Amino acid sequence: MGFLQDKKALIIGVASKKSIAWGIAQAMSREGAELAFTYQNDRLASRVEGLAQELGSDFTMPLDVSQDDQIDAVADGLAERWGHVDIVIHAVAYAPRDHLEGDYLEHLTREGFSQSHDISSYSFAALGKALRPLMSGRQGALLTLTYLGAERALPNYNIMGVAKASLEANVRYMAYALGPEGIRVNAISAGPIRTLAASGIGNFRRLLEQAEEMAPLKRNVTIEEVGNAAAFLCSDLALGITGEILYVDAGFNITAAPPIPAE
Ligand code: NAD
Repeated sequence: MGFLQDKKALIIGVASKKSIAWGIAQAMSREGAELAFTYQNDRLASRVEGLAQELGSDFTMPLDVSQDDQIDAVADGLAERWGHVDIVIHAVAYAPRDHLEGDYLEHLTREGFSQSHDISSYSFAALGKALRPLMSGRQGALLTLTYLGAERALPNYNIMGVAKASLEANVRYMAYALGPEGIRVNAISAGPIRTLAASGIGNFRRLLEQAEEMAPLKRNVTIEEVGNAAAFLCSDLALGITGEILYVDAGFNITAAPPIPAE
């Protein structure tokens, strides 16, 4: 029996088989969870439906997280079909492409700043607010995805780093608000992984190479590894953990300099 037996999980953020959310969905399904999926728009609907079927799910709903009515519709859909939800995975981020390269301030606009924060951070709190009644009192768990660029400055990540800093603060305030109802809120800070979202970040290939060179494990992480950590964090094995940012990055975050070749 898997450690997520009898859990019902909503997975937000599958766009392809390379998506981190897909790695999470696979791990959760393997551990016995029943899954529902959302897709961002009509273009992604049939692909997400097909992927859901691969994991034995016929439960998919549209969700553009910038639309309040769609967030409400997802809450209604879950209430109608399941009556509750145990796990919510938020693997969603967006920033205008020109904000993810070069000089941070040169490309910055008020609109780009708002949009990045709205989709990448506010949406997590909005989902927590909307789904709270369906999760309350049943050891629920919310999980989001972040990156080291929230804490440290690095090339090209720019506005997304600022939005991820907001998201990480959201994790703590949401954990504080929802803790009394037994709902836990955590994040995984993943190392760089080649996905659709990552391809929007300027010279992402170099980031992968640097992580491989500097990380103690001398390699990058996979969506399967992030998926396994997510399954654990959202399971009853992690009932004592909330408000936490867990690094799944082959140890990159503990390093400060690349290896120095022997003289
Ligand atoms: P991805 O492109 O596979 O997933 C991003 C998802 O966000 C897509 O499914 C897309 O449909 C969704 N999305 C964007 N705007 C949306 C909106 N308005 N409404 C609903 N959905 C929307 O890429 P990914 O790398 O798997 O990204 C998942 C999460 O992981 C993101 O939060 C990302 O910042 C984070 N992350 C990624 C990496 C990496 O290197 N790939 C590292 C650390 C953290």
